[in-house]
Amino acid sequence: MEHPENDSQYSGLTVNSGVAQPPVVNPYLKRRRRPLPEASELVEGILHGDSTALARAITLIESVNPEHYARAQEVIEKCLPYSGDSRRIGITGVPGAGKSTSIDVFGLHVLRKPGQKLAVLAIDPSSERTKGSILGDKTRMEKLSVHPDAFIRPSPSAGSLGGVARKTRETIVLCEAAGYNNIFVETVGVGQSETAVHSMVDFFLLIQLAGTGDELQGIKRGIMEMADGIVINKADGDNINRARLAQAQFRSALHLFPPTPSGWVPEVLCYSGYYELGIDEVWDMIDRYFTYTRENGYFEEKRRRQASYWMYETIDDQLKANFYNNPEIGAMLSRLVDEVQTNRRSSFTAARDVLDRYFANLRK
Ligand code: GDP
Repeated sequence: MEHPENDSQYSGLTVNSGVAQPPVVNPYLKRRRRPLPEASELVEGILHGDSTALARAITLIESVNPEHYARAQEVIEKCLPYSGDSRRIGITGVPGAGKSTSIDVFGLHVLRKPGQKLAVLAIDPSSERTKGSILGDKTRMEKLSVHPDAFIRPSPSAGSLGGVARKTRETIVLCEAAGYNNIFVETVGVGQSETAVHSMVDFFLLIQLAGTGDELQGIKRGIMEMADGIVINKADGDNINRARLAQAQFRSALHLFPPTPSGWVPEVLCYSGYYELGIDEVWDMIDRYFTYTRENGYFEEKRRRQASYWMYETIDDQLKANFYNNPEIGAMLSRLVDEVQTNRRSSFTAARDVLDRYFANLRK
């Protein structure tokens, strides 16, 4: 089987022309807003595994409308007792590492066993700028997107990384309540988002490539340190030897890291997502991790820590939002910024003054 990337005509950058939008059929037709669904109605749908109810509830989580958000919180609270029974797996890698190809194959592998359902979520901080997510996109996962037991949801697009991550964290709760007992959270391995993903998953998988120069390419030490497993993709054709070499290099690099808190020794494996080679071995490693951490209690301990982490994250977020969205504080800040930049005020006294004002207002 020849891979399309090896074709001289292949260009990953080809852009097909779009389809012109048809004119509006009836310009006078106003779209009626759908009424806000009742929490109990959504919860009932979710608990019955209805993916439409699930998708509607997630839309409420992602909404910037406070009323929608409040309704979403009601749904989450009610779903919480039914959540938690799943394997949460974070998957990261630089663009082009083969995340979507691999998730498609890994997903089908998981779904082959009876009683399994899979939700694929994403955290994509870049979607903030592009207003559309590249990750978790259905078109990137051809087979999973048509599988009846898979639910794919792109990254929430609005807000800060913290906000996007919190929404994904809340979405996990709803997916689990809807019976999705496998959750994949995908992210691009280039920035801060890995830390957010790491704080919501049980197992963190790093997808790497061989033969692109420096084997520890662009992946920060911190990301490697978080990984419970490193898998080298595209170990096929001429690339096999390079992949093996990279495997040896990663293994020796991992030896230099301190032992992990779980006691688990991260493994490094080679596979090919495209040709579906070595998939059983990757999944066997993940199974062993779950058995190991469930037996030594680390699984539960990590989940407990993650729950409190998200409580503090949410408090931080809300405090900041309350502070910066206050019009009086906003006006004061824009005046102070000028004074600070022109050295008329020190940064610290300016900060103290504005905080003093904020706290004084709270006491009123
Ligand atoms: P992502 O950006 O990380 O989601 O990467 P993609 O899954 O879109 O893959 C990027 C490119 O690498 C695509 O052209 C894939 O066909 C190719 N690719 C993915 N997995 C493999 C593999 O196992 N072997 C080879 N040779 N190519 C692969």
